[in-house]
Amino acid sequence: MVESPFLKLGLISPLEKRLIEKKYSNPTPIQEKTISKLLEGNDLLGIAQTGSGKTAAFSLPILQHISLDIMKKKSDKIQNGHKEKRKPIPRALIVAPTRELALQIGKSIESYGQYTSVSHTVIYGGIKQLYQVAALTRGVDIIIATPGRLLDLIQQGYVDLENISHLVLDEADLMLDMGFIKDIEKILKNLPFKKQTMLFSATMPEEVSKLAKNILNNPIRVDVTPKKIILDQIKQYVYLIDTQNKMNLLFDLLKSKKMTHTIIFRKTKRGANYLGQKLHRSGFRAETIHGDKTQSARQRALRQFEKGRARILVATDVAARGIDFSRVSHVINYELPNIPENYIHRIGRTARAGSEGIAYSFCDVSEMSFLRNIEKKSKQKIQISPHSYENQKKTEVKTDNFKKNQKKIKSTKPANSTSKEKTWPKRNKRRFEKPQQEKKSEQSTPNKNKRGINTPKEKKKFFSHKKKKF
Ligand code: AMP
Repeated sequence: MVESPFLKLGLISPLEKRLIEKKYSNPTPIQEKTISKLLEGNDLLGIAQTGSGKTAAFSLPILQHISLDIMKKKSDKIQNGHKEKRKPIPRALIVAPTRELALQIGKSIESYGQYTSVSHTVIYGGIKQLYQVAALTRGVDIIIATPGRLLDLIQQGYVDLENISHLVLDEADLMLDMGFIKDIEKILKNLPFKKQTMLFSATMPEEVSKLAKNILNNPIRVDVTPKKIILDQIKQYVYLIDTQNKMNLLFDLLKSKKMTHTIIFRKTKRGANYLGQKLHRSGFRAETIHGDKTQSARQRALRQFEKGRARILVATDVAARGIDFSRVSHVINYELPNIPENYIHRIGRTARAGSEGIAYSFCDVSEMSFLRNIEKKSKQKIQISPHSYENQKKTEVKTDNFKKNQKKIKSTKPANSTSKEKTWPKRNKRRFEKPQQEKKSEQSTPNKNKRGINTPKEKKKFFSHKKKKF
C-alpha cells in the first residue's frame, strides 16, 4: 500500500484518517513546509493568507501534541489505578481578528480532530457570554478567540491561560488594522513564557515584524504569498471610469448570467450599505456585510450567499477576510484599495479550490496611483477593458466646441490683423468690460452729496461751523 503523504509528514493515524475522508490527497505548500517542523516544536512565522491551507498547517500539529498528551496521561492513570474523568485545561490558544475567522477555525479544528478526544470552544463578542463561560467552566483543550471578548473574560477571571503550551496569532496584519495590537500585548502578559508560538500574517508591516521579533523564538519562516495562483487562475480586468458612472457600469455587468456568486468590495461601511440597499431595491438578491453589522446579521448574510439564496455579497475588506466559499465566480472592486495586498486578498476570494475566477476593478482618475502600485506589487499589467461610459463622447463634444469657437474667433479678426494681435469675439470682449450699472454707480458715488459731506464726522464738522456763524 502507498504511504499517505500526510503520514510522511509525521501525522498520527487518527488525523491522517480524517484527511483521507476529507479527500485531501496532498499537503498544500505551507502544510508541506511547516507540519513536520511544527511537530518538532519550532516557532513559526508564516506569511500566508486564507486559502493557502494554513489552518490545517497549525491545527494538525496542535491536535497531535494535545492528543498524544491525553493518551499518555490516560495510560498513566490506568497504570496507577486512577479512575476519575479527565477535566480538560486550555493548552492551546488561537487568536483571530474576526468572528467569522474564529468560527471558521473552530469548524476546521472540529473536523480535523474528529477522531481525537481533543475539545475546543470559540469565544467572540457580539453575543451573550453565558454559553462561552459555561464551556470554559466545563473545561476545554483549545480556545479559539477574538481579542476583545477574550481579554474581557480574562479580566473577569473566567479564562485560565497558565497552562498554554501553543499560541497562534492568525492574520496579525488585520489585527493591527483593526487596532487589536494593544489587546494582544495584554493577552500575552497572561501566558507562560515557555510555549510554541505561530504567527501568521498576509503582509508584513513594520509593527507586525516588530511583534514577531518580540514573541517568536528562532522561528522557521515560510512565505506562500499566492501571486502565482492569482496570475494563473484569475482573469483580471480594469475599467477606467468616472465615479459617477460606476453604478451604471456595475448594473450592466450584473445583468450577465455568468455572475452566479459575486462579491463586490467597497471601501467604506457606508458605501457598502448604500450599494447593498440600491441593489436590493433594484431587484438583485444581495446581502451586505461589514464591521458594524451584528454577528447574527453577518452570519445570516454569509449563509444566504453560501447557499446561493443571494447572488451578490457587498463587503468591506475587514469583514471579507474570513470568507472561504469555493463558488465565488466574480469579484468586483467598486473602488480600488490603496494597499496592494488588499487587492490580492480581495481577488483571492474567487478561484478557490482550483476553479477559475474573474476580477473586475473600477478605477477613476483619483485611483490611478493605486492601480500602478497594484501592478508593481503583482508584477503584472491588468488588462484595461472598454465600456460604454468612457469619456470619449465628452471629449469629442469638447473638441468640436473648441473648433467652432476657434472659427468664430478667426471670423471676428479684422482682415488686416497680424497673428500676434489679440482680437476677441464680441462675447468675450464683453466679459472684460464692466457692466453698465456698475459703471453708473461708480460715476455717481463721489457726487452723492454735492457739498462733499459723506461721513458723520464731516457732517458734525459742517454743522458746528454753521452754528458758530449764527
Ligand atoms: P485555509 O487557508 O486553512 O482557510 O484553507 C482553505 C481551504 O483549503 C479550506 O476549505 C480547506 O478545507 C482546504 N484545504 C486545506 N488543506 C487542504 C489540502 N491539503 N487539500 C485540499 N484542500 C485543502
